[in-house]
Amino acid sequence: MVNPSIWELETFYRKRDIVIVGAGFTGLWTAISLKENSPERSVLVVDRSAIPIGASTRNAGFACFGSLTEVISDSGKMGWEKTLELVKMRFEGLKKIQNYFKAKEIDFELCGGFEIINDEEPLQRIDEVNQKLKPITGLAATYSLNPKKLEEFGLGNSKFLVENPVEGSLHSGKLLQKLLEKCQNRGVEFLFGTEVLDLEEGESSVKIIAENFEIEAEKLVIATNAFTRNLLPEIDLVPARGQILLTEPVENLKLKGTFHYDEGFYYFRNLGNRVLLGGARNQDFKNEETDELVTTVFLQNHLENFLKTVILPNQDFKISNRWSGIMAMGKEKSPIITKISDRQIVAVRLSGMGVALAPKIGEMVAALV
Ligand SMILES: Cc1cc2nc3c(=O)[nH]c(=O)nc-3n(C[C@H](O)[C@H](O)[C@H](O)COP(=O)(O)OP(=O)(O)OC[C@H]3O[C@@H](n4cnc5c(N)ncnc54)[C@H](O)[C@@H]3O)c2cc1C
Repeated sequence: MVNPSIWELETFYRKRDIVIVGAGFTGLWTAISLKENSPERSVLVVDRSAIPIGASTRNAGFACFGSLTEVISDSGKMGWEKTLELVKMRFEGLKKIQNYFKAKEIDFELCGGFEIINDEEPLQRIDEVNQKLKPITGLAATYSLNPKKLEEFGLGNSKFLVENPVEGSLHSGKLLQKLLEKCQNRGVEFLFGTEVLDLEEGESSVKIIAENFEIEAEKLVIATNAFTRNLLPEIDLVPARGQILLTEPVENLKLKGTFHYDEGFYYFRNLGNRVLLGGARNQDFKNEETDELVTTVFLQNHLENFLKTVILPNQDFKISNRWSGIMAMGKEKSPIITKISDRQIVAVRLSGMGVALAPKIGEMVAALV
């Protein structure tokens, strides 16, 4: 234990109006919304790592609207009202990202999203789903079959390709850096490398307890997503690891866009002329229910095999990078955005769609604060 000096206590560790734990997309969009609503309030963001390490800098970079089978599956599990609410949040979140940042700043491309489908059943529901989504996207056909592109992309081993024009891709690292820049420009303060070990709510403040110091805040926002059980063990949330691999440049790569397969359990995209592929958690559910940021031989081999048979049949490739990130899932797919006391708000469990959801979640949390 290193005793803090008076200088530190009166500056870095002074009481703030709002402290946010977690500097991923949720924490940063929340900080921006808070400062937009009330620039005079002091906002401090605390993160345990030197850079935010969880899901936001370790994902696949889909500016994700969602695929046809995912929307059908969600509507079966949680009903149309909640499903459409989530779709609307994603659609508006993607618009907000495009309004806040120039495409070239974050490598945003409205490339279109595609889903590979080998079974005719979901295709019979395209018209019904399009009707439901029309008030949100304004499009008569949010999803449509595109056999021409199936050939063009070299996906000849698959049967059907469903396209949606509202999905895009982006560079998650650049987006996070730009969000940090916006926060700093608005006077948000940061403490990186600071793990919050405990929280104590008193009558006049919440205490944020770290290894060498404590900070008081009027209000606290917990935006620690998959890692929230360390602070709130009762929360309905399970960590879900997502593993990714990236190829070296592939000669004459035909693939362009973001792609979904098997209700979104597999996802891949081009990154220039490389292929980024992730997922297959459903092949090893139990072992992937963890917040350990490692990759496993079993799933990486499975992904490589998928690459060989579905994405790049008859083409040579080499893998250059492998990594994993941690999502947060629950019984329900909707995020948890709730006040747990007068002073504390939780905004977690963003599943695999946080890039698009976080901008709207930030606004919702700021309204609750
Ligand atoms: C492999 C993978 C692929 C994905 N692909 C996509 C995609 O293509 N498109 C999409 O929309 N979404 C995708 N997602 C989901 C998306 O990345 C997440 O939903 C989103 O990033 C969650 O943001 P967050 O800020 O809530 O959480 P995180 O980014 O996980 O941030 C939580 C932060 O809290 C910090 N923290 C945790 N505990 C503490 C503590 N005790 N004290 C201090 N700090 C703490 C962590 O260091 C971390 O920085 C993917 C996720 C993964 C893992």
